[in-house]
Amino acid sequence: MEVLEKKIGGYEQVLCAKDRAAHYRAIIAVHNTTLGPALGGTRLWRYKGVKEALVDALRLARGMTYKNALAGLPLGGGKSVILAPAKITDRAALFRAHGRFVETLKGRYITAEDVATTPADMACVFEETGHVVGLEGRSGDPSPVTAHGVFRAILASAKYRWGSDGVAGRTVALQGCGSVGSRLAKKLHEAGARLIVTDVDRERVGNMIRDFGAEAVAPEDIYDARADIFAPCALGGVINDQTLPRLKVEIVAGAANNQLLEDRHGRALAERGILYAPDYVANAGGVINVCIGALGWERARVTARVDAIYDTLLDVYRAAEVEGIPTSRAADRLAERRLGLDTGPEQKSHRIKGAVVAGHPVLCPGT
Ligand code: NAD
Repeated sequence: MEVLEKKIGGYEQVLCAKDRAAHYRAIIAVHNTTLGPALGGTRLWRYKGVKEALVDALRLARGMTYKNALAGLPLGGGKSVILAPAKITDRAALFRAHGRFVETLKGRYITAEDVATTPADMACVFEETGHVVGLEGRSGDPSPVTAHGVFRAILASAKYRWGSDGVAGRTVALQGCGSVGSRLAKKLHEAGARLIVTDVDRERVGNMIRDFGAEAVAPEDIYDARADIFAPCALGGVINDQTLPRLKVEIVAGAANNQLLEDRHGRALAERGILYAPDYVANAGGVINVCIGALGWERARVTARVDAIYDTLLDVYRAAEVEGIPTSRAADRLAERRLGLDTGPEQKSHRIKGAVVAGHPVLCPGT
């Protein structure tokens, strides 16, 4: 395997690897290990080229530093991306090659599953390195934990906006009734909320109508729903110039990653008086769950840390109000303080040959 190091400002280590026999090309970006080893999943994606893959790896690795810091975890941020070949002939060999690449970092970087990778793929990685979590039978499916964290985020948002953390009688517009969305729907229903749901999968919508008496709307109509809360639990980039003017809600809080198409949409939400629960704070349950495998945590410790998303969000909301900045930026600043950095109230972006890394150019959705 050939491994090449790239020097990139703001990143501790960025490596590119190639293993011709396994048709394997990948990048590992270690953004920051101030708080502990860098943890972040492996994404398999058909990128247009190495530059696009690099920008994605950098953006995602940096995001993991912030997410892990704000979740109060003794973990740094990193990410790996595998450039999917046109046709995968031997998937096990591809992921074993990835395991060898991860092993070269000797534990500075711990990987896990992510978009288009599975626990079975991680089992192949595990054949070559111990620095992998999210294996079958270890920490288990993160979705219920993520859903619990998002529910806590909704309660904190309700408390901040309406003075009471109950959602009884409130209406929630839920986009995406998948692993996280369906579990969130159950919690909201049990707490007395009314649901307006959508999904491109009709069967999933049918389950919500049957189980929770939800009202269904077409996928494109969810942005117009007359509701108190919008919970995006499907795709990234859903808060954008087209959707924002249509929202009638007072709170946006959901599980989806990269909900803001661009950072400026965080300010635009604030200007419209909509309280935004920064996505990486609200959906940290998944990464907290991984601490069972990565750090040997007990389930009770995981639950306590997920419950604490409530208090973290209230801190974010108060800081945003005091500093007069959007909640998305207030979350970043809180994370930066935990990392011993302070980059000031404005969002700072890295530019790599013209591509914005710190912002949200959504190349592909997911964790
Ligand atoms: P999932 O694939 O199980 O569910 C996503 C759902 O969204 C599916 O039912 C899909 O049909 C639906 N969907 C897709 N396109 C849609 C559209 N245009 N309109 C409406 N619905 C659409 O995924 P998940 O695990 O539930 O994750 C949901 C989101 O939360 C993703 O963005 C994911 O990256 C993020 N997230 C998940 C976890 C986790 O623990 N699973 C952790 C952190 C973040």
